[in-house]
Amino acid sequence: MSNTQFVDEVKRRRTFAIISHPDAGKTTITEKLLLFGNAIQLAGTVKGKKGSRMATSDWMSMEQQRGISITTSVMQFPYHDRMVNLLDTPGHEDFSEDTYRTLTAVDSVLMVIDGAKGVEDRTIKLMDVCRLRDTPIFTFINKMDREVREQIEVLDEIESILKIQCAPITWPIGMGKNFKGVYNLYTDTIHVFTSGQGHRIPDDIKIYGLNSDEAKAVLGDLLDDLIDEIELVKGASHEFDLDAYLAGKMTPVFFGTALANFGVREMLDDFVKWAPEPQSRTTDIAEVDPYSETFSGFVFKIQANMDPKHRDRIAFMRVCSGKYTKGMKMRHVRIGKDVKISDAVTFLAGDRENVEEAISGDIIGLHNHGTIQIGDTFTTGDHYKYTGIPHFAPELFKRVRLKDPLKLKQLQKGLQQLSEEGATQLFMPLNNNDLILGAVGILQFEVVAHRLREEYKVECIYEPVNVNTARWVECDDPKKLEEFKRKAVDNLSLDGGGFLTYLAPTRVNLSLTEERWPEVRFRATREH
Ligand code: GDP
Repeated sequence: MSNTQFVDEVKRRRTFAIISHPDAGKTTITEKLLLFGNAIQLAGTVKGKKGSRMATSDWMSMEQQRGISITTSVMQFPYHDRMVNLLDTPGHEDFSEDTYRTLTAVDSVLMVIDGAKGVEDRTIKLMDVCRLRDTPIFTFINKMDREVREQIEVLDEIESILKIQCAPITWPIGMGKNFKGVYNLYTDTIHVFTSGQGHRIPDDIKIYGLNSDEAKAVLGDLLDDLIDEIELVKGASHEFDLDAYLAGKMTPVFFGTALANFGVREMLDDFVKWAPEPQSRTTDIAEVDPYSETFSGFVFKIQANMDPKHRDRIAFMRVCSGKYTKGMKMRHVRIGKDVKISDAVTFLAGDRENVEEAISGDIIGLHNHGTIQIGDTFTTGDHYKYTGIPHFAPELFKRVRLKDPLKLKQLQKGLQQLSEEGATQLFMPLNNNDLILGAVGILQFEVVAHRLREEYKVECIYEPVNVNTARWVECDDPKKLEEFKRKAVDNLSLDGGGFLTYLAPTRVNLSLTEERWPEVRFRATREH
């Protein structure tokens, strides 16, 4: 690959994730996007919900049983002249930490909203995370084939609750049984609704001009209402501005039905045009340019048991600059060693394949034999570290006890590794030998128990523990810190990474402690 080819290839990349509230249609739209990318022959292979076929993103037997998606996978597919990298995120709220971290590895986001329900809880939280980095957001309002709400109202809700300007690009014509298609406000084109159920991509039937005879013939009496509505919509909403979108201040909005695969193509066509190419990223030293030829990347996710037969762990790395080629040497910055990587994998078309090359914007999977942690940087250049991959203070805590006390070593090893992978957070009190687990969602505990049993052959029992929340402790004055450690020792522990943490039994205790120790910072997040 010559330098100009490299630059062209990077420019082609569009790396994004989908955010939504459960049931809004993320899985369904993912299937349709893959269908457009020819990445799957049959839509319906993404999620093996309700015991159907083995799915791309459902590896663990647990999640098959539950029909929920715990894992984050990566799907790469070409569309038009672009190469799209879609990072899947767990649908279940209990695994939201995985989702937050995945959002640090993308350049933009597609937000899917249920047209009947409007803005829901989970979307609000995920938008907060996107806002930390001003991530550009595309919006798809789904389920127009149902009786949905007045869509002007839904746009108002997005603007007021999610604090982002809406610029409708398409607008729905009717809804439910009377859904007739979408009208593109910018190309003055009606896309007539035809249902593309299942694996079929529907034909794109277009009528040019809202005032054309053809429009009149197809829409009949509905046309006059539509013309009035479009006037209203134009008056009441924002005109699309590419820069405002790229700055994360405005979202282009599209309508359709993912289930019938209608309106998705119109969205995808503009997405690959407008969504940002790979962006520069921050390290502890400087910004790294994606067009730099020096290779670098960071790990945002570790996934175990992708293939139950091989019991391996894959560390997902976002390539931030340069090019990976098979067999190359790179520096594993945290442990200060050069490693040779000859078996990185990708997920093109849903299959794991050996990658020969990957460039800025791509995701590669590294086999992890216990030396890779979330947040690790790999590079062939200066030994900088990528920053901004967050750890969130857990909200649920349990003490772990062994059924067989002789297996303490295995338990410690298992918990240490699972915490490095981000499956749970581990806290070791300073003044006793307890092992306390922290999680954001209750299912995380079940996954940990399951994996301890399967992978480390230890049976554990959870017990309640009197901890309400955790805060990472920092203090610039070493003397004060020592004093604090002496006085608060009963509430202090080290987390899996060796960082000092305050485990508060109640919120009240936390605020009192914060008041009493103004020199000490109590942080609700920590960067890896
Ligand atoms: P996720 O939880 O966000 O991944 O949502 P799914 O894609 O699994 O969809 C949730 C449910 O809504 C499923 O039963 C889908 O078949 C259904 N669904 C998704 N898109 C549409 C749509 O456009 N119209 C209708 N009527 N149902 C839809």
